[in-house]
Formats: sequence, C-alpha cells, structure tokens
Amino acid sequence: MNSPLYAVYGASGCGRGIMPLAREQLRRLGVKLDRLVFVDDGVRDSIVNGQRVLSYADFVSEPASERHAVLAIANSLVRERLAAHCAAHDVHAWTVAATNMVVMDEVEIGEGAALSPFVTITSNIRIGRHFHANLYSYVEHDCVIGDFVTFAPGVKCNGNIVIEDHAYIGAGAVIRQGRPGKPLVIGRGAVIGMGAVVTKDVPPGVTVVGNPARPMNKD
Ligand code: UDP
Repeated sequence: MNSPLYAVYGASGCGRGIMPLAREQLRRLGVKLDRLVFVDDGVRDSIVNGQRVLSYADFVSEPASERHAVLAIANSLVRERLAAHCAAHDVHAWTVAATNMVVMDEVEIGEGAALSPFVTITSNIRIGRHFHANLYSYVEHDCVIGDFVTFAPGVKCNGNIVIEDHAYIGAGAVIRQGRPGKPLVIGRGAVIGMGAVVTKDVPPGVTVVGNPARPMNKD
C-alpha cells in the first residue's frame, strides 16, 4: 500500500523557510523524508534544498494513500485559490509548526497554518484557516484572527484585537491592545506597513503606514 505524501506548496522564500520545519515535524513522526516534497508550478529545478519539486499536477497524480499540503505562499489570495484546488482533489490542509513555538491555554488554530520559529500564541485566542505567523511574531490574549491572515516577521499583536480575513501585517508592526468588549479591529484585506504602530481601527482594504499608522497617500 502507498504511504501518505506531504507537500510544502511554494518553493520560493516562504516555502524554503517552512520546509525545514516540515522535515522536522515528519522526522518526529517517523515519516520517511522522501515522502516530503515541494509543490511549485513555476520552479524549473527538480530539487530545491535537497527536496524534490513537483508540479501540482504531478503531486496529485503521484501514488499516495493520502496527501497533505501546507500552503507556504505569502499572498493570501493565492493561498485561498490553492486551498480550493487542494480541497477539490482531496489534499488535506496541513499545519506545520516550529518545535520551539509556544501556545498557551484555550487556543484554536484553523487548518493549514504555517507557524515559524519563536512564534508565541498566548491564551484564549481563536485563529482561522491558513494563518501564517512568521519568525518572532506573537499574538497576545483574547485576539480573534480570521482566515488567510499573514504576519510577516516580528509582528506584535497585543491583546483584544480582531483581525479580519486576508489582512497582511508587515514586519515589526505593533498593534495597540484593544479593550475587553471593545477590540481594536483590523478590517478585511487591510495592509499594515512594515514597522507601523497601529493605535486605532483600520478599515477593510486600507493600507496604513508609520507611527502612528495612517492611511498611505496614493500619489
Ligand atoms: N506558486 C505556485 N502556484 C501558484 C502561485 C504561486 O506554485 O498558483 C509558486 C510560485 O511559482 C513561487 C511561489 O509560489 O515559487 C511564490 O513565491 P513568491 O516569491 O512570489 O512569494 P513567497 O515565497 O514570499 O510567498
């Protein structure tokens, strides 16, 4: 009988940062590392960082008892599109987490997360599907995070914050703590610039930058 096949979807910057975590996760489960591949529709090389690269078509046609993939692509709209493809072909959403990440009490994280080294998720937190938390990011107590949300490295997401689907939080951004019953809200698809200090709600689809963070001039 064929064994399961595991994939890191995306062999570019994001995927190459997730692959070592995936490798370690499978090593601990006793899975042979030749059952772990990159899937990438654009990369021409057949091997990247020691791991086979398959196109998606080859991934779904290679014999396997079941298939699992973590979508290691920073663009959340691409992740959403690929998540639908994967679901249609019975490819399970796979969560990959660094061994040194910290998760405290009453935390729910949806399927398909990619959780990098030194990430901390404290207590009473709900997070949706295909979340990316890059190096050294944290999520403090009582936050609610939607689907396909992306944290670049070093995001400081303090307590009582709501982040809606597809928001992107840039490297080193700091988001001010909300209050119980009156969270600070980052709207759907909003973009928080690198190093921004967010002190109040950000409407859906708006890009903010700076300290204090303000909508970016579009000229
Ligand atoms: N990619 C893919 N299928 C898609 C869209 C993207 O295989 O439908 C791959 C693309 O070929 C590239 C990677 O995903 O190798 C995205 O890499 P990029 O450098 O754009 O972003 P990052 O690694 O930072 O997410």
